[in-house]
Amino acid sequence: MNTASPHPGDSSPARDRRSLRADCGNCFALCCTAFGFARSTDFAVDKAAGTPCLNLAADFSCTIHDRLRPRGFRGCTVFDCFGAGQHVSQQLFAGRNWREQPEAKEEMFAAFAVSRQLHEALWHLAEAERRTLDPDLAAQAGRLRAAIDGALAGEVQDLLAMDVADLHDRVRAALLEVSAEVRAYHSASGDGRLESSLCPGAQLMGVKLRARQLCGADLRGAYLIAADLRGSDLAGADLLGADLRDARLDGADLSRALYLTQPQLNAAMGDRETRLPPDLTMPANWEAATV
Ligand code: SF4
Repeated sequence: MNTASPHPGDSSPARDRRSLRADCGNCFALCCTAFGFARSTDFAVDKAAGTPCLNLAADFSCTIHDRLRPRGFRGCTVFDCFGAGQHVSQQLFAGRNWREQPEAKEEMFAAFAVSRQLHEALWHLAEAERRTLDPDLAAQAGRLRAAIDGALAGEVQDLLAMDVADLHDRVRAALLEVSAEVRAYHSASGDGRLESSLCPGAQLMGVKLRARQLCGADLRGAYLIAADLRGSDLAGADLLGADLRDARLDGADLSRALYLTQPQLNAAMGDRETRLPPDLTMPANWEAATV
């Protein structure tokens, strides 16, 4: 394992990412209302988009907050809005809520859906900007962040009219360029040439990858559901959009993994020995499982 990383972002968090965390106390439960969900292992009931969840209280709190998993609402413990909820509630709609102003409801929920995508893009771009050593790539990521910040600070109608797909393509291209650079740097610390099955979008459900040096692996969009990654080193591994549901991360080193998010961690299983990137926190259910 290479411990002397020259990548500045490997050891210090980006300031802007601290605002990209959900602050439910300043949100009018937009995720519990705007989005729909289907009865499944993640949700005990069906809910149509644009309708309040049956567990939502009048003050926008959740009546089963401390027992979501036992009550069949695991999906709620995995979700994270990247700070979009409080932004829409407090900035875009200036503290007006959808109960008091039902005529603004549709616009508010649509703005939340777009804002969540943009906030997630900001999360990844902040990481790309701080981890690249290429000033041009850093500047490119910075420009994209500034463009998104500008859109989020503007009028709701402009936000809803923007070409999110085009922006998404540009963000993705920037993230991939930084990924190639970071992976190349870290791959020298790994198991040598990784098997070809460890590739973007790979079907790796239940795969045994315990105690491996997966440094610099390109696991973008891979299906790692219930994969065994215990004790593995994922320094510089690209995990953008990887499905980590029920993946075992006990003792794994994710501290320098690339493009990891809190929802991915929340869906996985780990323990106190799992090393996390500085901006992410150990999910509550990991704590409960290890006491
Ligand atoms: S169960 Fe609670 S957290 Fe989940 S959607 Fe309903 S109100 Fe929100």
